[in-house]
Amino acid sequence: MEKFIIVGKNVSGLEKFMIDNNQSKFRAKQVYNWIYLKSVKTFDDMTDLPVQTRELLKEKAVLTSLSIKDKQVSKDGTIKYLFELKDGACVESVLMRFDNRANLTACISTQVGCAMNCSFCATAKLGFKRNLTSEEIVQQIFLIQSDTGLKVTNIVYMGQGEPLLNIDNMLESIKIFREQFQVGARRITVSTCGIIPGIEKLMNINFQSTLAISLHAPDNEIREKIMPVAKKYKFDSLIETLQKYTEKTSRRVTIEYVLIKDVNDSLEDAKKLAFAISKLKSNVNLIIYNQNEKSPYKRPEKNNILKFKYILEASGKKVTVRLERGADIDAACGQLSLKQASK
Ligand code: SF4
Repeated sequence: MEKFIIVGKNVSGLEKFMIDNNQSKFRAKQVYNWIYLKSVKTFDDMTDLPVQTRELLKEKAVLTSLSIKDKQVSKDGTIKYLFELKDGACVESVLMRFDNRANLTACISTQVGCAMNCSFCATAKLGFKRNLTSEEIVQQIFLIQSDTGLKVTNIVYMGQGEPLLNIDNMLESIKIFREQFQVGARRITVSTCGIIPGIEKLMNINFQSTLAISLHAPDNEIREKIMPVAKKYKFDSLIETLQKYTEKTSRRVTIEYVLIKDVNDSLEDAKKLAFAISKLKSNVNLIIYNQNEKSPYKRPEKNNILKFKYILEASGKKVTVRLERGADIDAACGQLSLKQASK
């Protein structure tokens, strides 16, 4: 018989398992505390459980269905994980530590591969395999915590896959992070390439975490060239939907913009972008393209980055330039999986 997977189950799921196995509901709460607040590695580490309960768990359950297949540690402290799923497929997560800050941010995946086919993304080359279950999404954070012994304080849904195309499992995992891992809604960010029906769904449930939009272009023409999703969900409709979203939720959105040399980094592009988002309650996050030998794209000139930033700031936007993390490892999403797939 298949073993019961514990991490990622909601409270009632675990309580039912305990009751079905002649244990009290209270034992479920104890197990919850061990996995979500302490992220223990084994059932034997759950020292306040009676030996007989621990034996039962060992016989009938496992903590996770994911396992760590590979791990790379960067000089700057970034850790990249390759997790193997039960069916042999792999997904990636990254843990980032920022100097002078207590925050530990984990970037997690929601799908195996991705169907969106953005031209600058290594994950796109894997194609789409399947959605992750909510349990598989939650287990990434659990395994990072149990491996490092550290508490993840911020979670970003920016790994492999398009979260809004797996929206129900994504929302269920957020519920568990908030209620069990005790990560505040404002410390969770979901990044989408612009799936309008998904944004509308989040708007209708008054989503309280941060929504980030991978815009990466100042107009539809450039966007279609690098992000095929723009053929279906047009630039102007996306900005209009985001405007409605910010009005309904009273939440600012984050515009993600990866600067790629000679593709979308001209001063004209900066001006167009500033105009396009001038009425949108938003901050801008500029990301410097992580150049790699398999991609035709190049990193922009430093001078251009500064000018681009200046133009947006002059238009009244708060702009951050995202530090490149883990430059000495395969930290860009999809690179580690691609290596694995080609082995
Ligand atoms: S950038 Fe995101 S949405 Fe685009 S292909 Fe990569 S994982 Fe998918």
